[in-house]
Amino acid sequence: MTDLFAPENRRRLSLKPGKERVIANRHPWIFAGAIANESGPADAAIADLFDARGERIASGLYSQHSQIRLRALTFGEELTEALIRNRMQQAVKMRLTPGARLINADGDNLSALVVDRYNDVLVVEIANAGLERLKPLVIDTLRELLAPRLIYFKNDLPVRRTEQLPAENEAIGEGSPSTTFEENGLKFEVDPAGGQKTGFFLDQRENRAMARELARGRRMLNLFSYTGAFGVFAAAGGASSVDNVDISAPAIEQAKRHYEINGLKASFQVADAFQFVRQSRDRYDFVVCDPPAFAKNRGDVDRAARGYKDVNLFSLKLVQAGGVMMTFSCSGHMSLDLFQKVIFAAALDAGRRVSIVRRLTAAPDHPVSLYCPEGEYLKGFLLEVRE
Ligand code: SAH
Repeated sequence: MTDLFAPENRRRLSLKPGKERVIANRHPWIFAGAIANESGPADAAIADLFDARGERIASGLYSQHSQIRLRALTFGEELTEALIRNRMQQAVKMRLTPGARLINADGDNLSALVVDRYNDVLVVEIANAGLERLKPLVIDTLRELLAPRLIYFKNDLPVRRTEQLPAENEAIGEGSPSTTFEENGLKFEVDPAGGQKTGFFLDQRENRAMARELARGRRMLNLFSYTGAFGVFAAAGGASSVDNVDISAPAIEQAKRHYEINGLKASFQVADAFQFVRQSRDRYDFVVCDPPAFAKNRGDVDRAARGYKDVNLFSLKLVQAGGVMMTFSCSGHMSLDLFQKVIFAAALDAGRRVSIVRRLTAAPDHPVSLYCPEGEYLKGFLLEVRE
């Protein structure tokens, strides 16, 4: 097999004069605009970036198709197979829950690589052409570290089109990709093939645990419920009722199963949450609002802000005085600051008196590199609606 780390198989990039700052800040994404010229194999997995004096200043995963030409893994240090294995091992050994994000891309200094574990199944997302060529290394290392029954490559990330990578999923191992796992003592079924993203939203684990604590005796509304997980925790915490709303019929079907296998009760509606909150005549003591990312890119932020305001405004109207609401944005392009302004505008128009009790964020198996703040996407507030 070709050694993709051998010098002759690596791409050589040279930095444009005046672009040194790009490297000084150690941001892992090095854009085509910072590169003066390139040589070596165009389909290289690995590339090295050199400065004007011919010094190697960064090495990483290469892509001839993306504007992110290089996803730097090192800044001067030689990039070897062993280094990637070590980074994977470091990340994995810190994650102890049965359902866990094992590798969180830039947050684990492994740009473009996401690995989620659900019990005996690992689900992998690859977002770079160079890394795709290193799949054998990824498989080998994951097997050595974790001996999973199955490694499932979930290949539907939109960026894979830019990277000119196949969109068909691929299973390596035995049996079906579907499996079950426990989160804080409650049971969940994951279908990585048919489900959204890797099959489950592990980033909300701690916020769901908080939902269990808040739920006792409250009527709960789980908006954008997906497979019902927030509501399962609320029901387990003694909510007096739980209503789940999601636009996806398969997600609601799976949600029903989740209450059933945990011996819990709830009601379900396949509906557009925007319409639901406008039309509902019910009132709730606890609302969770966890919509998908409305802003897919920077140009979308204004439109997304209007969407968040709209759904939060009508959601706030459904909360009884004295009730609480957890509201989230998972759009990386929407800052915490802007999200708070949006919630302010929603509360104002809803005519409610609202306080922030807590800021909410992703669980600790979703670390964010200081050098790549773009990795932070999930933000939320626990709100108290006083009047
Ligand atoms: N809170 C969930 C994850 C939510 S993901 C959990 O903890 O598991 C966002 C969900 O919003 C997806 O299930 C998607 O199907 C749903 N969705 C997207 N647009 C919607 C809309 N307009 N109305 C209702 N649900 C929608």
